[in-house]
Order: sequence, then structure tokens, then C-alpha cells
Amino acid sequence: MILVLFGASGSGKGTQAEFLKKDFNARHFSVGSYLRDLIASGSEMGEYIANIINKGELVPDEKITDIVLKELDKLINLGKDAKDIILLDGYPRSLKQANSLSAFCAERKEQFFVINIEVDEDFLVDRLSSRVNCIKCSAPFTIDNSKVCPFCGSSEYFKRDDDSKESAIKQRLTNYKNVMHDVLSFFDDKKIFIIDGNSDINEVKKRIAKVVNKLKENV
Ligand code: AMP
Repeated sequence: MILVLFGASGSGKGTQAEFLKKDFNARHFSVGSYLRDLIASGSEMGEYIANIINKGELVPDEKITDIVLKELDKLINLGKDAKDIILLDGYPRSLKQANSLSAFCAERKEQFFVINIEVDEDFLVDRLSSRVNCIKCSAPFTIDNSKVCPFCGSSEYFKRDDDSKESAIKQRLTNYKNVMHDVLSFFDDKKIFIIDGNSDINEVKKRIAKVVNKLKENV
């Protein structure tokens, strides 16, 4: 089954994906990480993507859908047990993308559900300003006194360009607000699980685990 991690930038999708990978042996595709790797490759495509991401804008639907569905296909082909979990982090981000995902899942006979992590806007801006990513495992985390990645223990981290510019942070939050209602109302309510993401990450983790365990029981 595919679990879409849905929520604004800074809502904790990447962090919760790390927990789900460990606790449920989930496979994970993060669109943002894939695009950042593409940028790091120094290719022409990477340069084109960097220009978009660094302004906080969205990559055009056709391009992103092409990438995501190919990668999802690869993850599905790794194993076909209905209880296997594939995490999709950062897609869909438009109504067109929601349509494409729905059609893809119907064609591949894959069940999908949406975990919608809701976080207050003030909290999001604070989190994005203090968020860094681990150089070794790419997981996002908030720097505290220890300055160590809570997932792999590495003390090497970087600050994303689009988390360093206030204009890019604001643009991403505006994009999210503009599309979230359309995207969510496209899906059947029974497929959507709302998680209050304002609490401590371990509390949010427990809430999500409860939903995932229930979904696994019912497939
Ligand atoms: P994220 O790591 O999920 O915050 O994504 C970083 C950036 O990658 C976004 O601000 C967009 O510029 C781009 N991006 C990620 N996912 C998508 C998507 N589904 N559609 C278009 N652009 C995307």
C-alpha cells in the first residue's frame, strides 16, 4: 500500500518518514530529496530544477509526475505483499498530480491512503528556520545543543537553500495553502487520516503508528 505523507513544508513529513522506515520497514520516496540529488549531480536538468526550488516554486506537473511514477513503479516492483508500505513524501502537490496518482494506483491495483499532518503556520516558519539536513542520511532535523542527526548520529549537516531564504519559505507555504483544499477534497474522506502535528515528534510518531497499524490490520 502507498501512504502519501501530506502536509506543508516543515510539517514533519521527512522526520516521520524516517521513523516509519525504521519501525515498519517502509520503502520511501521523497520527491524533494530526489530533486536535491539531481541538483547536486550538476546536470543541466539539475540547474533547471535548482532555479525553481530556490524560489520556493513548484516543478511543472508533467516533469514531476514522470519522475514520481517511474520511481514508484520501481518501489512497487521490489515486492508485492499488500502489507508492504511505500511512503510517498512530497507528492501530490496539485490537483493534476492527485489525478495522476489516483489513475496510477488504480491501474497498478495499489491501495493508497493519505496521512495529512496538520501544523499551525507560526510553528512551521519556526521549524523551517531551524531545520537542517544530515549530510550522511539526508534526514531533516532541528538543531539543538547536541547538533547530531537523531537518525544516524552524524554531526555533519547542511542547511537547504530554500530553508535559508525567507521569501522561499513564504512562497512554499503560500503554494501549500493554495492547493491543499483542492488536493484533499479530490480524495475520498475514508482515505485521509488527519494527524495533529503540533506536538513533540515522538507524540506525532505514536499517532501515525496507530493509523498505520490499523491500516495494516485491514488489508
Ligand atoms: P520538499 O523537500 O518536499 O520540501 O520539496 C522541495 C521542493 O521541491 C519544493 O519546494 C518544490 O520546489 C519541489 N517539489 C517537491 N515536490 C514537488 C511536487 N510534487 N511538485 C512540484 N514540485 C515539487
